[in-house]
Amino acid sequence: MREEIKLLVKLQALDLWLDKAQRLMKELPQQIQDESQALEAAKGRLEAFRQNLKDLELERRGKEKELMELGDKVGEKKGRLFQAKSNEEYSALIKEIESLKERISQLEDEVILLLDRIEEVKAQEEAAKKEVKEKEESLEAAKARFHKKLQELEQTLQERQKEREGLVSRLSKRTHQIYEKVKKNRGYAVVRAEKYTCLGCHMEIPPQTFVEVKKGEEIIQCPFCSRILHCWEEAPKEDEE
Ligand SMILES: [Zn+2]
Repeated sequence: MREEIKLLVKLQALDLWLDKAQRLMKELPQQIQDESQALEAAKGRLEAFRQNLKDLELERRGKEKELMELGDKVGEKKGRLFQAKSNEEYSALIKEIESLKERISQLEDEVILLLDRIEEVKAQEEAAKKEVKEKEESLEAAKARFHKKLQELEQTLQERQKEREGLVSRLSKRTHQIYEKVKKNRGYAVVRAEKYTCLGCHMEIPPQTFVEVKKGEEIIQCPFCSRILHCWEEAPKEDEE
């Protein structure tokens, strides 16, 4: 029976590993999904900057066209100054020219502001481009990692499943049933007892029960949580990885 308790401890370490591996296999695709979403968000930001830039360029071209037209108008009105028939006509033309020049100066200021803004958005667009590239690389790396890890996991899983079958075949049918039942109810079935305490539920167990657990000749379950108790000092820990 002593041997059987050791088998149970090993079986549990294996089962904990298998649970963890299965969790990991679910989490890995989630990581890829998160990376994909981050990439899509970065692409969205880049697209917004591009659109913004297009709008600003359009606005700039509009203003520059207007500036040219206004310049032509000023030239035309200046030409008419010489043909003015009266003082009134002359001062009216001067007034119009002044007002056109005012509009030109205002437009020029607006174009300068626009050019500044365009430079700014161009820098933002560059940064967004860089971010997209980084996120693409990061996603590719995550995919590669995922495939590698998955392959490793699948191989190790198969080996450990076989190992598990081997362990189970050496248990009595009754012990195996107890193990599976408690595992199903409690998450894990085997737990160490220390100083008269079950380390699964932290309840104090009767001294006689503890003595029997120490002897290790029989399968003893915690009277409170039903887990199988052991006092095996060198028990293997749950496999890291
Ligand atoms: Zn307990």
